[in-house]
Amino acid sequence: MTLDLAAIKRANKSKDVIIMAEVDAEAEYVKHHPKKIAFIFSAMRHFADTLKASGWRVLYSKIDDPQNSHNIIGEVLRYAEKVEANELFVTKPGEWRLIELLENTPLKVSIIEDDRFIASHAEFENWAHDKKALRMEFFYREMRRKTGLLMDGDKPTGGKWNFDQENRKSPPKEIITTEPTIFKNDEITKDVLALVNERYSSHFGEIYPFDYAVTPEDANIILDKFIKHSLPFFGDYQDAMMLDEPFLYHALISLYLNTGLLDPLETCRKVEEAFINGDAPLNAVEGFIRQIIGWREYIRGIYFLKGPGYTDQNYLKAKRKLPSFYWSGDTKMRCVSQAVLQTKNHSYAHHIQRLMVTGNFALLADVDPKEVHQWYLSVYIDAFEWVEAPNTLGMSQFSDGGLVASKPYISSGAYINRMSNYCKSCHYDVKDKLGDRACPFNALYWDFLIRHKEKFSSNPRMAQMYRNWERQDENMKTSTLAKAKKTLAAISQNGAI
Ligand code: FAD
Ligand code: SF4
Repeated sequence: MTLDLAAIKRANKSKDVIIMAEVDAEAEYVKHHPKKIAFIFSAMRHFADTLKASGWRVLYSKIDDPQNSHNIIGEVLRYAEKVEANELFVTKPGEWRLIELLENTPLKVSIIEDDRFIASHAEFENWAHDKKALRMEFFYREMRRKTGLLMDGDKPTGGKWNFDQENRKSPPKEIITTEPTIFKNDEITKDVLALVNERYSSHFGEIYPFDYAVTPEDANIILDKFIKHSLPFFGDYQDAMMLDEPFLYHALISLYLNTGLLDPLETCRKVEEAFINGDAPLNAVEGFIRQIIGWREYIRGIYFLKGPGYTDQNYLKAKRKLPSFYWSGDTKMRCVSQAVLQTKNHSYAHHIQRLMVTGNFALLADVDPKEVHQWYLSVYIDAFEWVEAPNTLGMSQFSDGGLVASKPYISSGAYINRMSNYCKSCHYDVKDKLGDRACPFNALYWDFLIRHKEKFSSNPRMAQMYRNWERQDENMKTSTLAKAKKTLAAISQNGAI
């Protein structure tokens, strides 16, 4: 939502109209978190006011308009008839589902590439076409060269492209975070909250309190505060998880980047400036910039390169239903309940919670990736399919057979114990593998490796894991697999674990 959106740049104020519509079909094709729906509707209403103030004619359908047809195409056709328009300009949506819908309207439709990204589709395709493996790191270096971010001539600042090795510290004993910025809800947001609360009350998630920004000005306040107070620690504690600390030193800006309230390149330039001014260390600044011009751009490139079939893949043939505790948080596993309950409250969990807690557990428990994908798409405030699907299906669930991840992101409880303080207050014992209170991740980890031995034992990055298994005595191996079977059976029968 920005005045220099590709389709707006093509339009003519004196004769074109802008159509914006809040519709049930978009809020409900997966049951999105009420905070997410409210954030998007409120940001849309604020943006419509900005457009009107700068002279555009806006035709806007509110969710409770009696004439609202409740789907995007229905609204486009309704307004097209009203203003006798026969041509539609649209910025390319971030979901194949919507692109296909638009391509099948009776109007003449021009889909214009969204240029709020650093790499165009053509650039990504060009980079990808002669590569055997599409590894993010090499694409990221291209983006550094293209943007000049953290470059000294043609060399990376500090002599290294990537400082990730310095970014994996365990959680600190004590953290100094600033109070979250709470924006007072204006009348527009209050109105939206009441409507969404009433209309989508069956959706997972708490709508109140609502304190996200809904305008570019407020999103910039969040970004500036992050740069001042949290960026210096971002690198060190990027992978850390702490009890009742949902945000730690993360920026909490993905929702603003993905809806156009913040611009990715401007964001990175501000962050780079903090390094130049000596206000943040290189490992933090490089780590942050890599997430945006590296991972975010790469993930988008993969989604559009691979086409609509990407979301149907299931390389590991996983088939279990998503456990019900993903919706209730009702599990004795502290790490999972923390991630689910904070998701319910904030529609947010940070990267390592998504990858190494809920994602790791679903992967170990053989959950159908389509169910996992739909869960992530519906519960997170920043989830739009172009960014959510390759992260969930590719990086987290290995359903694309190793396109995004060179090995599955799996771990036993030991990793979670090292990177969090969750295990100390958990019902389960992270060091135990077989007892009644053994951490469920432990046996499931080995069970996963054995179940998929044919696929992974020749992967050089996993050879050590298989050697470790071979070193265990036969009784231990049998008992571990039996323990995993029992846990999986309990999950299938919807038993609380
Ligand atoms: P920070 O940790 O502060 O990072 C800064 C920014 O870097 C983020 O705002 C984001 O724009 C970008 N970024 C970091 N990692 C990634 C990544 N892997 N892919 C794309 N951008 C990245 N991100 C989304 O924006 N939408 C999603 O739907 C989404 N789904 C995910 C699902 C899974 C299973 C996993 C493992 C990751 C997913 N991510 C998604 C990536 C990442 O978890 C979020 O971008 C991040 O947690 C957002 O919080 P933040 O703004 O505090 O990020
Ligand atoms: Fe999670 Fe296991 Fe630690 Fe409990 S002991 S918090 S289940 S990793």
